[in-house]
Amino acid sequence: MAARILNGNAIRDEIYGELAAEISALAAAGIRPGLAAVLVGENPASKLYVNSKIAACGKLGLASFLLTPPASIATDQLLQIVDELNRRDDVDGILVQMPLPPQVNAKRILDAVAPAKDVDGFHPVNVGKLVAGQPSLVACTPAGVMEILRRSGIAIEGANAAVMGRSDIVGKPMALLLLHANATVTICHSKTRELKETVRRADIVVAAMGRAAMVTPDYIRPGATVIDVGQNVIKDRGEAERIFAGFPEKIEAFRAKGSVLVGDVHPDVVQTAGALTPVPGGVGPLTIAMLMSNTVRAARLRRGSAASSNSVAATQR
Ligand code: NAP
Repeated sequence: MAARILNGNAIRDEIYGELAAEISALAAAGIRPGLAAVLVGENPASKLYVNSKIAACGKLGLASFLLTPPASIATDQLLQIVDELNRRDDVDGILVQMPLPPQVNAKRILDAVAPAKDVDGFHPVNVGKLVAGQPSLVACTPAGVMEILRRSGIAIEGANAAVMGRSDIVGKPMALLLLHANATVTICHSKTRELKETVRRADIVVAAMGRAAMVTPDYIRPGATVIDVGQNVIKDRGEAERIFAGFPEKIEAFRAKGSVLVGDVHPDVVQTAGALTPVPGGVGPLTIAMLMSNTVRAARLRRGSAASSNSVAATQR
């Protein structure tokens, strides 16, 4: 039987509905949460990501501020921009879009963002709080995965979970969030031995390696929940035809566009998994939703609003 498809767009809309109520309550208290995005240089993919984040702010009625320093900027100059944003009262969240040009020390920049405005959840203070199980701003993609699991009624407590990938922005925080939700977590990476057998023991699999369609059905215990974080653009026709052999509409889409998006999970897994996030339309929409949620939460915490809500922003840990 084909897996239940976990629709990220529908879950995002549900979260936006809750956030809208919270944003109205904040507005009544005279507070309009604001997000500042720093986009360095002309990287087209970064521009696309930042534009969609700014568009989400507009949709929800949050203030947004776009700063676009040139690719030639030096670390000290960028630190100055971050410092100014840290001081501004109308800015609740700061995101510095990665990657930064090679001459910029990215770690110094990320560490300079005030932890209270670190809506990406990358600052060591927020990472430390996450490890300690204290309330914090949590990295958006793993926080979004938790929303998908919870809102889809997937049992996490006591489940065996395999997280494939151990990056600072996805794999590590993902493993911690699952652990805090009482899953038994195995973190897999490029040096993991018997990867397939390990993943096959899991009730919940989160694939975040950046390896197109690597997780084939033989990795998956029948009935398991599979969350596909990967976003890989396939431009090679042969590869697209191999991966999507059973999905003629995808091959058609490739022919029309010259590229197709595929996750880290092979599309054939839909026949083995019990539940599966699609790519696109699975984890991706939640990443932006959680950025919005973190911005509202940061505004509420920093500006001390008494406005209460039981929305996602208010109830996150
Ligand atoms: P990353 O920093 O490159 O980390 C990849 C991780 O996967 C590393 O820990 C690596 O292991 C592991 N890995 C690589 N090849 C492997 C293999 N063959 N077997 C087992 N583990 C392997 O990537 P990332 O930033 O975490 O992103 C991962 C994927 O998620 C990418 O496709 C990215 O585009 C996508 N992503 C999506 C969203 C979204 O909103 N949907 C957000 C963020 C990222 P080592 O540590 O041993 O090298």
